[in-house]
Order: sequence, then C-alpha cells, then structure tokens
Amino acid sequence: MSEQSEIFVCQGCGHCCHGKATVSLDKADIERMVSFLKLPFEQVKEKYLRISGAIVQMKIVDGHCIFYKDGCTIHPGKPWRCSEWPLHPSILTDEANFSAISESCAGIKKDLGYEEFCRKFSDYLGKS
Ligand code: SF4
Ligand code: SF4
Repeated sequence: MSEQSEIFVCQGCGHCCHGKATVSLDKADIERMVSFLKLPFEQVKEKYLRISGAIVQMKIVDGHCIFYKDGCTIHPGKPWRCSEWPLHPSILTDEANFSAISESCAGIKKDLGYEEFCRKFSDYLGKS
C-alpha cells in the first residue's frame, strides 16, 4: 500500500484556500462545521457562510476563505472537499486534471509523471 507522502506532501502555501470562491458545502459539512464551532446554525450562517440558492460556500475575506489564517483554523470542522484536496479521484481518469491540479498545488509529486503517480494513487486508495 502506497503512503500518502509518496504522492503528496502539503507545503503549507495556502494557495488552495485563496481565490474568489471556496468549495461547496454539503449537509454533513455544515453539521460538522456547526458542531466544531459550537455555535447555532443561524450564527454560523451569518458569520461564515455565503449562500446562493442551493450553493453553500464559505465567505471570502481579503481574498481567502474566512477560516484561513496562516493555515486552516477549523481543521476538524472543514468541508470534505478541503480534506480530500488535492487527491481528487478524477486525476486517475484524466491527465488534464493531473496537470491542472499539479499546477495549483505545490505538494503534488508531479515529478513522478502521470502513470507512476496514478499507480501509487490507486494503490493508496486501495483500488489496485
Ligand atoms: S495548495 Fe497544496 S501545498 Fe499548498 S496548502 Fe494547499 S494542499 Fe498544501
Ligand atoms: S475550510 Fe480550511 S482548508 Fe478549507 S478553504 Fe477554508 S481555510 Fe482552507
């Protein structure tokens, strides 16, 4: 079984927490966040969330996620998509995704090359 460190080691650059929007949250993400913050949902919604129709995201402040301050300040309460990043399974089926994700995340071991990366990533996911 491959270790995560063979394919990815976070460099702590914070790039993935910056931008004009954040990942979208699902129901479980919101429940986890509310529980972690120990605040009523209405308060979490007002202080931290940006809701547009069915899309729930975290607010952006000064160009980054409201929870970013020299790293993620809500690690145990962060959305699953944040936990998964950058090891998105779509990498396994689309080399263009590997290239795009490698470009935006300095922690991806892109020097492995696409085939070797996928072999190790599949192994890591227990799919091989
Ligand atoms: S972009 Fe990649 S290396 Fe940088 S903080 Fe995010 S996960 Fe870590
Ligand atoms: S919740 Fe944490 S990991 Fe996710 S974007 Fe915000 S600061 Fe980054």
